[in-house]
Amino acid sequence: MSKVSALRARFAQNTTSEPVSSPKPSSPTPVKKRWPPVQSGGFKRRLPRALIIVDVQNDFCANGSLSVPDADAVVPVFNNIRKKSTFDKIYLTRDYHPANHTSFASNNDDAPLFSVVKLECGTDQVMWPNHCVQDTKGSEFHPDLIIESTDEVIKKGMNPKIDSYSGFFDNNSSEKTELEQKLKENGITDVYIGGIALDVCVLFTCMDAKKLGFNTFFIQDASRGLGEEQNKQAIEKMKKAGIVIINSNQIN
Ligand SMILES: [Zn+2]
Repeated sequence: MSKVSALRARFAQNTTSEPVSSPKPSSPTPVKKRWPPVQSGGFKRRLPRALIIVDVQNDFCANGSLSVPDADAVVPVFNNIRKKSTFDKIYLTRDYHPANHTSFASNNDDAPLFSVVKLECGTDQVMWPNHCVQDTKGSEFHPDLIIESTDEVIKKGMNPKIDSYSGFFDNNSSEKTELEQKLKENGITDVYIGGIALDVCVLFTCMDAKKLGFNTFFIQDASRGLGEEQNKQAIEKMKKAGIVIINSNQIN
């Protein structure tokens, strides 16, 4: 087993527990179950929906400091979804850490990469290599990812003392991003989520979306994770939570 594989396997052991963010929905969005979209009189009607593209940033892609296997492959999938389908809103989450962020091994006495350290606030934290540091190339979106002026970017992980895997909450749920509020303001009931890494930030974002009451669809072919086993476990968790697993060709 290569060093990287060994580290990933170790990471997998560290991420088999339930996501640590377990927010209580403040006021769950009333949603209707309706899938697939109802066909009526030759027209397909659908509920207000948003596409959430999670962390498709240079540091998670090829040659990035925390590259995820085959991550670049999600870019054409998202571009194609955008070309063939219409969403009421499109959001992109962006991991955006200060240089002194607590998730970096370099800021924790060079703790071994992918080991777990208990933070001051009591939350377990995986030790990552420096990644997605504010105002660096690594924190920018993949250059081939299509982004429109109407898209909105949700930055996360800016508090140096706590990580944010989910696009909705910090890992100890102490603070939230503006994503939930924006979705509700726009009357969104259905969210379609994919990106990088499947078993970390995509998983946490999907689980929180579901807990908050959104009809949640995980786009499998628009996502890549740290390893096959981790991906499998993440998808199982999503299924158990009632998240619908789809491929992009099922999006009308
Ligand atoms: Zn991060």
